[in-house]
Amino acid sequence: MTQIIDGSTFTGAADSQAAIEQPREDVVLSSVVSPQEDAPSSDTTDSAASADLETTPATVVPEAETPPPISAFAAFGLRRELLDGLAAIGFEEPSPIQKAAIPELMLGRDLVGQAQTGTGKTAAFGLPLLERLDAGQRTPQVLVLTPTRELAMQVAEAFNSYAACMKGVKVLPIYGGADFRDQIQHLRRGVQIVVGTPGRVMDHMRQGTLDLSGLRSLVLDEADEMLRMGFIDDVKWVLEQLPAERQVVLFSATMPSEIRRISQNYLKDPAEVTIRQKAADGRRIRQRHLVVNGPQKLEALERVLEAEGSEGVIIFARTKAITLTVAESLEQHGYDVAVLNGDVPQTQRERTIERLRDGRVNVLVATDVAARGLDVDRIGLVINYDIPFDGEAYVHRIGRTGRAGRSGEAILFLTPRERRFLGGLERAVNQPIEAMEVPGNASINQHRLDRLRQKLTTALQQPVCNPEERALLGEILQRVALEQSCSPDQLALAALELGLAGKPLLLQGEERWGQSRPGAPTRERDRDRGDRDRERSGDRRPFSDRNQERGEDGPEDNMERFRIEVGWRDRVKPGNIVGAIANESGLAGRSIGKIRIFDAHSTVDLPKGMPEEVFADLRRLRVMNKELQISRLGS
Ligand code: AMP
Repeated sequence: MTQIIDGSTFTGAADSQAAIEQPREDVVLSSVVSPQEDAPSSDTTDSAASADLETTPATVVPEAETPPPISAFAAFGLRRELLDGLAAIGFEEPSPIQKAAIPELMLGRDLVGQAQTGTGKTAAFGLPLLERLDAGQRTPQVLVLTPTRELAMQVAEAFNSYAACMKGVKVLPIYGGADFRDQIQHLRRGVQIVVGTPGRVMDHMRQGTLDLSGLRSLVLDEADEMLRMGFIDDVKWVLEQLPAERQVVLFSATMPSEIRRISQNYLKDPAEVTIRQKAADGRRIRQRHLVVNGPQKLEALERVLEAEGSEGVIIFARTKAITLTVAESLEQHGYDVAVLNGDVPQTQRERTIERLRDGRVNVLVATDVAARGLDVDRIGLVINYDIPFDGEAYVHRIGRTGRAGRSGEAILFLTPRERRFLGGLERAVNQPIEAMEVPGNASINQHRLDRLRQKLTTALQQPVCNPEERALLGEILQRVALEQSCSPDQLALAALELGLAGKPLLLQGEERWGQSRPGAPTRERDRDRGDRDRERSGDRRPFSDRNQERGEDGPEDNMERFRIEVGWRDRVKPGNIVGAIANESGLAGRSIGKIRIFDAHSTVDLPKGMPEEVFADLRRLRVMNKELQISRLGS
C-alpha cells in the first residue's frame, strides 16, 4: 500500500515555525507511486508509467483534525526523552513524511519512502529507530548508508540532536578520508548507531571491526544518489551480510528501476510513502537561461555575478580544469572563491563547505560529483556555467538553492548549439526556464551604485573600528579639511573614492553587451580577426567602441560624426547635449542629428562644414560639468 502525500519541502528547524508550510492536506491511499514533480526519475519508463497511473481514481481519506503541537509527536508513542529532545531543537509538529512514516517504522515494518532532503525524512526514520533502540546492547543496532560524507555527518548530527536527552546513545559517522584507527577505537568502545558511506562501511565489515550481527535496522538514505555514484553493488553486498531478521528502510528522491528492484528483492512487504511536491515548491527556484558563445562565457559569468550576485553562489562546471579557470578569473575580479572538485582532499573539502556555510567564502565553483549532497542553506544562486549532462543532474544542481524555506535563483548558460537541450531540461522540471540577457553595463553600473550605497549605510550603522580608532580617523579628517580647506562633502567623496581601492566605479565600454546574434560563429571569427588587426595597428580601443562610433549606419550624407567626452557615467541625456550645442553654436535643435551615448563618451552628428571658431567654442563647452572636448570622429 502506498501513501501519496501532498507535501512540501520541509524547512530547517531554524525556521521551523514557518517551516511547516502546509500540514498534510490529504493522504491518498492507493497502490501506485506518483511521479515526483520536483525530482523526476531518471528512468523514463517508470516516470511515464507513473504519470499514467496518476489519473487512477484513489480513495481520499479526509484529514484528521490537526492535533496541538508536540502532542502530535507524543501521539506516535515516542518516549519522553525523545520528546524533550525534539522540544529542545524546536520541532513542534511532524512533517507530512514523518506523519506517514513514523507509525509504520515504530511497528518495525520495512518502508520505501520517495522523498528528498528538506522533507524531514531524517527524523522520519531517526525518531522511530531511536525509539526502538536497546540502550543495553553495545553492538550496532542501526546502520544508515549515505552517498556522501557530508550527508553521513549531517544524519549523525541529527540523530545526536534527537537523542540529546537519552542516556547512553552513541552515534558514529564513518566515512572514507577520515582516520580509520580512530573509527575502530570508537566502534570498540561500543556504538548503537553507525552512519556511513558504503565503501568505508564495507572496509570495516571485511576487517571485522564493524560487527553487524546484532543489527536491527538498515537505512538506505538517498538511494538514487548511491546508484548514481556507483555504490549500488556495495549496497547490495552490505544487504546480503545482514541478519535475516532486520528492518530495511529505503529513502530515495527518485525511483529508477534499479532502486525499485532493490526494494523488491531485499525489503519485505514494505510500507510505501511518497511525498508529492506541490508545484509551487518547484517554482520557489526561479530558473532562467541565457545564450552565450563559448569564448564569451567567462565575461558573461562575471556580468551575471555583478548584476545578479547573491548571498552564496554555486557555479557548476563540467571539468576540474574549468573549475580552476573560472575560479582564477573570479579571484582576479575580487571574489572570495573556493573550488570543489575531485582533486580536493576530504579535509579541505569539509573546511571549504564550512567556509561557504558561514559566509567566509561566497562563491563556490564545483563539479557535479564534488557538490553531491551539498547542503548549505545560504545558497541564493546556482549558475550552470556548463550545461548538465541530463535533466536529473539539472534538478540536483538547482536543488542546492531554495533550501530551508528560502527562495533561490538558477541561471543556465547555453551555447548556441546547446539551445536544443533546453526543452529536455524544461520537461525535467516541468516548467519553462525563462530567457534572460547577459546583463548590460547600465544594470551592472546601477547594481554597483546600489551596493556602494548599501555598504555606506551599513558602515554608518555598524562601524568596524573601535572608538579610539574612530577618534584617530576623525582627527585625520579634520586635519585634511583644514589643510586643503575643503568641504565635508568633498572629504566624504574623497573617502568614498579611496574605498574603491583603485577599481573603476563604473563599467566602461559599450552600453549593451554585444550578443545580439550569439549564434553567428562567423561574427566571432571576424571579431577575433579584427582584434588581431587592431593589435597590429596599435589601436587598443575596444572593438565595439569603434564599431558603434562609426555606426553600421554612418552619418547621413550632409552630416559629420563627432565624439564628445561626456557619457552615461556623467548621467548625460540627449536633451542636455542638444540644448548645450544648440545654445553655443546657434544651430537649430532639429539640425542636430543622431546622438549615441556610451559609457564615458557620446557621439553626435552635426551638419558638415562647421566653422572653426564654433568648433573651438564647442571644445570648451561644458555639459554635466565636463568639457565636451569635441573631436571629429576618425580625425
Ligand atoms: P531533512 O529532510 O531530514 O534533511 O530535514 C530538513 C530540515 O527540516 C532539517 O533542518 C530538519 O532539522 C528540519 N525538520 C525536520 N523535521 C522537522 C519538524 N518536525 N519540525 C521542524 N523542523 C524539522
